[in-house]
Amino acid sequence: MAIADKKKQSHVAIIGAGPVGMMCAAKLANAGIRVTVFEKDAEIDPRPKALTYTAPVLADLAKLGILEDVVKICFADERAIWTWRSLGGGVLAEMHWSLLEDVQRPDLHKPYTLQCGQHLLAKVLVEYCNRFEHAKVLHGYQLTNLTQTDEKVTLSISELGMDPFTFEADYVIGADGGRSATRKLIGQHLDGFTWDESFVAMNIHFPFEKYKWGAANFLIGGKDWAVAGRTGPGSDPWRVAYGVEPGLTDEQVLEGAPDRLKAILPGPDEFQIVQCAQYKVHQRQVKQYKVGKVMLAGDAAHLNNPIGGFGLTTGMTDAGCISDALIAVISGNAPEQTLQEACNIRHEIWATISNPGSQNFKRIVQQDPKAISKEDMDFFKRLNNDEEFQRSALLGSLRIHTPLGTFPSQRGTEKVYGLVD
Ligand SMILES: Cc1cc2nc3c(=O)[nH]c(=O)nc-3n(C[C@H](O)[C@H](O)[C@H](O)COP(=O)(O)OP(=O)(O)OC[C@H]3O[C@@H](n4cnc5c(N)ncnc54)[C@H](O)[C@@H]3O)c2cc1C
Repeated sequence: MAIADKKKQSHVAIIGAGPVGMMCAAKLANAGIRVTVFEKDAEIDPRPKALTYTAPVLADLAKLGILEDVVKICFADERAIWTWRSLGGGVLAEMHWSLLEDVQRPDLHKPYTLQCGQHLLAKVLVEYCNRFEHAKVLHGYQLTNLTQTDEKVTLSISELGMDPFTFEADYVIGADGGRSATRKLIGQHLDGFTWDESFVAMNIHFPFEKYKWGAANFLIGGKDWAVAGRTGPGSDPWRVAYGVEPGLTDEQVLEGAPDRLKAILPGPDEFQIVQCAQYKVHQRQVKQYKVGKVMLAGDAAHLNNPIGGFGLTTGMTDAGCISDALIAVISGNAPEQTLQEACNIRHEIWATISNPGSQNFKRIVQQDPKAISKEDMDFFKRLNNDEEFQRSALLGSLRIHTPLGTFPSQRGTEKVYGLVD
């Protein structure tokens, strides 16, 4: 089959219209590949979840030509600062993304992070996909079964209250979150452990700006640790996250919130809680991201605690890597085994960066603010006094990005895939 025909005829199904599934769909649609997204919910879940997107995600949005649309709904300050604080005390260290202003690399489109609720980003990506006749995003359609041969994958899809129908795809990306049906249907299991604590994600109005708090703040406070950051531009609420003992009801969490917030907030001003959710926290990953023609991405493949923003950033960079590999394979620019290579690389990224990195952030914020380890104090001192050290720490965060062309079997092919201009 000619390459143009293969591209036209290949059909990719994506399970889940969360930010990871929608990023895959947008990239495939942009490359001219037929894509259908099945999302079980009637609309995008608006509950407070992740909200930070780092530089590689910006680069992918820029390539799609929708970075400006996303920036409009985000907090996107070129002077974005991440601050380490001690609870009830002062600033320990700051990391300034603007230090990367003069760094020229294709995966660093802008030297800042974007912040907005993940449902808003998913919405922009759905609207983007709706521009293409060959892309469909179907809400209210749930994956219930999956079988595959060497040639194709057959999905059973249930539309709310209706008999299931079958749908055939050449490839499937399971981006259906932590409870992924795709994962179970390809016989994968999330190995690892669950922390014996619950996290609270709360959106609140409080005048943090008056106290000069920047984009993201990590508060070291033992069991009273917290993270606070912007959820969007202007007067949008801020996100405060903290830990609670497991097993509390949502009412109990809300009842205890005023006392917790008083300890966290930098001043006595009034606050207003807008939204609140509690959730279990895990460090888990599947053994195989790819079984046959089905691949997993995002929370379907791995879960980690959210401190440091490794959850969604890893998911979005899975989406970038796996969908670029799929585009290259379907377009005839790379052999089929590139898909396995992409999946292996993403497995390794989570195991060697996201899993230890998120546990390290958790360890740092959960230590006693009056007895911070010497190693961490040295780290903060170097961040404050050594600009080169700070730059390399910020650049280190880009290691999570694994674009095609940097794969061991692909080195030297960067130009083919548009990685370098
Ligand atoms: C309360 C909360 C707060 C969080 N805070 C942070 C944070 O601050 N930082 C961070 O990095 N991470 C955070 N996370 C984790 C982050 O939200 C996830 O990493 C992110 O949602 C992963 O995106 P995803 O697209 O892989 O999955 P999801 O966003 O879960 O999307 C999966 C989609 O698949 C759909 N789906 C599921 N099953 C099926 C099926 N059978 N058929 C069709 N569709 C299906 C779902 O309805 C959903 O829309 C938080 C999570 C929670 C729950």
